[in-house]
Amino acid sequence: MERYYQPELECASRETILALQNERLVKQVRHVWDNVPYYRKKMEEKGLTPDDIQSVADLHKLPFLSKDDLRDAYPYGLLAKPLKDCVRIQSTSGTTGKRVVAFYTQHDIDLWEDCCARAITAAGGTDEDVCQVCYGYGLFTGGPGLNGGSHKVGCLTLPMSSGNTDRQLQFMVDLQSTILCCTPSYAAYLAESIHERGLRDQIKLKAGIFGAEAWSEEMRRDIEKQLGIKAFDIYGLTETSGPGVAFECSEQTGMHINEDHFIAEIIDPNTGEVLPEGSKGELVFTSITKEAFPLLRYRTRDICVLTREKCSCGRTLVKMSKPMGRSDDMLIVKGVNVFPSQIEAVLIEQGYQANYQIIVDRINNSDTLDVLVEMTPENFSDSLGKITEMEKSLVAALKAMLGIYARVKLVAPKTIARSEGKAVRIIDKRKI
Ligand SMILES: [Zn+2]
Repeated sequence: MERYYQPELECASRETILALQNERLVKQVRHVWDNVPYYRKKMEEKGLTPDDIQSVADLHKLPFLSKDDLRDAYPYGLLAKPLKDCVRIQSTSGTTGKRVVAFYTQHDIDLWEDCCARAITAAGGTDEDVCQVCYGYGLFTGGPGLNGGSHKVGCLTLPMSSGNTDRQLQFMVDLQSTILCCTPSYAAYLAESIHERGLRDQIKLKAGIFGAEAWSEEMRRDIEKQLGIKAFDIYGLTETSGPGVAFECSEQTGMHINEDHFIAEIIDPNTGEVLPEGSKGELVFTSITKEAFPLLRYRTRDICVLTREKCSCGRTLVKMSKPMGRSDDMLIVKGVNVFPSQIEAVLIEQGYQANYQIIVDRINNSDTLDVLVEMTPENFSDSLGKITEMEKSLVAALKAMLGIYARVKLVAPKTIARSEGKAVRIIDKRKI
């Protein structure tokens, strides 16, 4: 049963999708103008009225919204429906001190769950599956989003939330979970625990839907190999609803954006200018179906590329590349842009797992970059007398990737603290 595969939308012609987007955008701009004084003021400052937006071609005229706007307008300033019509809030983790609160009507929740159901269906999920959701539940969108999507697909849903690895593994074996939803770093940790406990033959997982943090192709291959599954990426952010804004299909070369709900643009992060298709830049979303918290031209800070190349799955929805880093996460070390995903790629390629910590400091006005890398039990037992050699080899590989020198220190297995949610991998002492 594939209720949530909708070829009439997912495989529609560009003209069909554009017509739908035009109609929904015009309506949405009017809705925001009428109900969100904060954004109306921004439009007025640019001399705009809703009549100036007749189609997607006019989208570029609208002002952007950024995380700063969300903070300024906290908590109700961007709400477009009376509170009595809202049934839920979700919130960002606030790890960077910028908590965002998003509001949902029941209709918004339904559409969000539909998007997640589409993602689960694209990963091969049906009502025959047992879907273990170990994203956090609560304010974080990961758990509730995939939980709702899993219900809609008709999977038997295990609302595990994050943590308690013993219990996760027990249910995974006893209830024969077939789909795993969590952060990629937790999937890697579960894979490691399964291997240690000799449970590999007792698990029946076939697919994983992993998102909410950056992960490399190398990490994907590593998790797929260790768990014997196909690992799919999923994208979303609290500001635009949560996971399910974009999802990966069997081709695994980027995520299809649900264009019937969101219009995507790529802009130059410095000038705000819209870039032509295929350019690398900052991803901007306009939600055209949300009622309570309809953000127009929201700057995600994610750097990626959009492509409309034909996909072997048959879907025509535009595809976004895996984010190549967040403009927030990007470190500038000795004037060079460094993304944690680049460091991770080198580690995995050299036979390590993605357990590492990046420490940036400034000593005598010069930046230093230290990478703490945890050895796997295998390379730990091989390491006797060879640590310096192994470290040198990593230093050379990192230099080749980043173009700058990083000091590398190998540490024993299990010495870097594990995270059950998003991994805390960067310590930038220059900001402390
Ligand atoms: Zn596809």
